[in-house]
Amino acid sequence: MRGVIMDAPGEIRVAQRDDPTIQEPTDAIIKVVATCVCGSDLWPYRGIADVDHAPMGHEYVGTVTEVGDEVTTVKVGDFVVGSFFASDNTCEICRAGYQSRCVHSVGMGGIGTQAEYARIPLADGTLVATPSAPDADLIPSLLAASDVLGTGWFGAVAAEAGPGKTVAVVGDGAVGLLAVMAAKQLGAQRIIAMSRHSDRQALAREFGATDIVEERGDEGVAKIKELTDGLGAHSVIEAVGTHESMMQAIRSTRPGGHVGHVGVSHDVELPGLELFFAEVHLHGGPAPVRRFLPDLIDLIWKREINPGRVFDLTVPLDQAAEAYQAMDQRRAIKVMLTTDER
Ligand SMILES: [Zn+2]
Repeated sequence: MRGVIMDAPGEIRVAQRDDPTIQEPTDAIIKVVATCVCGSDLWPYRGIADVDHAPMGHEYVGTVTEVGDEVTTVKVGDFVVGSFFASDNTCEICRAGYQSRCVHSVGMGGIGTQAEYARIPLADGTLVATPSAPDADLIPSLLAASDVLGTGWFGAVAAEAGPGKTVAVVGDGAVGLLAVMAAKQLGAQRIIAMSRHSDRQALAREFGATDIVEERGDEGVAKIKELTDGLGAHSVIEAVGTHESMMQAIRSTRPGGHVGHVGVSHDVELPGLELFFAEVHLHGGPAPVRRFLPDLIDLIWKREINPGRVFDLTVPLDQAAEAYQAMDQRRAIKVMLTTDER
């Protein structure tokens, strides 16, 4: 099969890889229908995280082509959505809703789903089948559920977005934009998107943002305070992962408020005394997308939300190098890769 390999920072190649096979009786094999490039794939692409001839990709939707002997909840032919961590969905951590930290979790990034086929470990606990084969126009939204929607959703839940709350979102990538959508769905009263790009501001407004703040850093914090009677927002979602964005999120939150941080942390160092007096709740990490998948698929299936709007470029898998470049240069918010065309 063909699959994306990152040989070194900035070097993307579509190579021949071995077809995946069932290794454990709990595995399934899927034909990947659509996959995508993640903001977190840009860390190694830019040389900020190590990479050496790595298979790439952890987001996927597809059709089951084979199942192991112990798989019972999905069958050959099912259209399925899964998360970037395979999970058993039965251990104590999973049952508490933290499937991304399942005691048996397997990172899908190591398997590399930017490929024509993928092995899905712990298929029963990982995959959720759609009611039937989806209409083509639903595929981008279902793919978004695999990571960016689920991650934005977790950010909003962790920040306790809800009725009567003012929510601020730091970060205007796909996750930040979909955190706006999640906050809206969760009933937030006011949603402030922090973005200086007009196309992303427009999408944020479409998703439910009521205010836009273009300033960042201390100026951004001052602006949030200005909009909230000097108090700060009740709920702030951090969807970048840098020290600056994390501090911007914490400082934009009122005492007693909640920060939901879902940007993959890079060189974040929290100052203890400031944190002590900030008196905010911090909750976040790799999103337990599996917790939300059934509900998200249902909302997408009923066409109540359209998170697939974040994909503003679609290219065939063979043009993966262009997909990475477009995201790196911020020419695209998020790029979908399709496996059918050559
Ligand atoms: Zn588990």
